[in-house]
Amino acid sequence: MAAVRKARKLPSDGAKNGWYETLPAPPPAQHVAGTISTDWAVIGAGICGLTVARQLGELRPADSVALVDAERVGYGTSGRNAGFLLKGHSHGGEKDMALGRRNDRLCAAGVEHIRDIVMRHQVQCDWSDWGRIYVASGAPGETHLEHLAHGLEGIGTAYSLVDRDGMEAVTGTRFYSRGIRADGTALVQPAALMRGLGASLPENVALYEDSPVAEIHSGGGFRLVCPDGEISARQVVLANHVFAEELGVARGRVVPVSLFASLTRPLKEEELAQVGGGGEFGLLPASPNGSTVRLTRDRRILMRNTLIYGRAKQFDGGQLEGAVVNHREGIRRRWPDLADIELDGTWGGTLGFTRNGGVVFGEMAPGLHAVMTTDAAPLTRGAIAGKLLADQLCGIDSPLLQDMLALPKAALLPPDPFLRFIVNHRIRKAETGESGEL
Ligand SMILES: Cc1cc2nc3c(=O)[nH]c(=O)nc-3n(C[C@H](O)[C@H](O)[C@H](O)COP(=O)(O)OP(=O)(O)OC[C@H]3O[C@@H](n4cnc5c(N)ncnc54)[C@H](O)[C@@H]3O)c2cc1C
Repeated sequence: MAAVRKARKLPSDGAKNGWYETLPAPPPAQHVAGTISTDWAVIGAGICGLTVARQLGELRPADSVALVDAERVGYGTSGRNAGFLLKGHSHGGEKDMALGRRNDRLCAAGVEHIRDIVMRHQVQCDWSDWGRIYVASGAPGETHLEHLAHGLEGIGTAYSLVDRDGMEAVTGTRFYSRGIRADGTALVQPAALMRGLGASLPENVALYEDSPVAEIHSGGGFRLVCPDGEISARQVVLANHVFAEELGVARGRVVPVSLFASLTRPLKEEELAQVGGGGEFGLLPASPNGSTVRLTRDRRILMRNTLIYGRAKQFDGGQLEGAVVNHREGIRRRWPDLADIELDGTWGGTLGFTRNGGVVFGEMAPGLHAVMTTDAAPLTRGAIAGKLLADQLCGIDSPLLQDMLALPKAALLPPDPFLRFIVNHRIRKAETGESGEL
């Protein structure tokens, strides 16, 4: 039966993605114009879309795949995050350790899948196996750190404790009272990684950028309507993350939360001593009100804090100004002499959480499939989920696919305004009770 899904909202990320801005300008985009016919259309070229399209292209060399995004590859959320490719990761709240271990097998495979592509195609993305330190600066953070250690033990991740002196040796600041160091996580320049993944797709995968899909018509195949043209496809994969609900998929199952980050200009030689001497590092906060902090390979500080309920999926000037204030405050508390350093970009991005560590994965309607990465470690779980969805579509089974299929489906959530109220309440509670962790 013929049906039409009209996008209620399209991506409009606005504020400049600092990672993207530090890269050279990309070559002009190919966009959807006229009528394009393809076997498979993948909507969304973030980590999920890039991996599902690549794997479909590799497994079905005689088929054509169109990968289409509303923006440039690397500009959206997958290119505007903190660049932690996590495995052996805990957020400290796991109740079901069997689920945690299953998730972790997927994340570990995700890191290796991305590593393999990066190495094979020599993707220049500042890949580093530095790992991560989970950090706390006071009593609330230390309590979270204890839960987190329990979570790491539950999934079998080895770790070591770092005291204040040890944290100072790495970061140059005595702000952190304690840390937990765990290896296994890679750090990347996320926009460069995404651009590299987009530039190294198999020949039978055509990438179309700056091409928002405003409508999907179904009935004997699919017709995707973009501003200047259309794609007709036999099968469609939705990999457009929190925008899936705008096309009527996974509605009411994913909590959209927006996070903000800033990237400073590269530190000068004489400033490096303040941040531990200049060796890169990656710090993940134990507290939900804490800051993710990196010193990047090119010697910039990345400061990521500030959460808001993200149903709007875009940011106004006031929200970005608020984030700048918090990012500066985060820098000032750690490195007072760098408080006024120039920021080369401040931006927001929206990601999805579920209430049960669940997934959106598989066929949603005849011929219409979806893959979305949510919750903890979304880049690595998304990379492997994309690959595994393509495997499933091509009839390839594996223990990892079985792990993926054994994860619970994302559970239904209360509707707005209740959900908005609950999320805002939790954010405010963390902001007031754990303000020292910012
Ligand atoms: C500040 C910040 C820090 C983060 N840090 C980390 C981290 O360190 N590690 C980690 O694992 N995760 C992190 N995340 C989360 C992670 O980036 C995301 O969960 C993940 O990138 C989502 O990938 P995706 O492929 O599902 O979606 P996306 O990257 O959002 O890709 C979806 C794509 O779909 C496109 N799209 C949407 N609708 C349409 C349409 N109608 N037509 C065409 N295209 C469309 C969008 O333009 C977008 O490019 C962070 C997120 C933020 C915001």
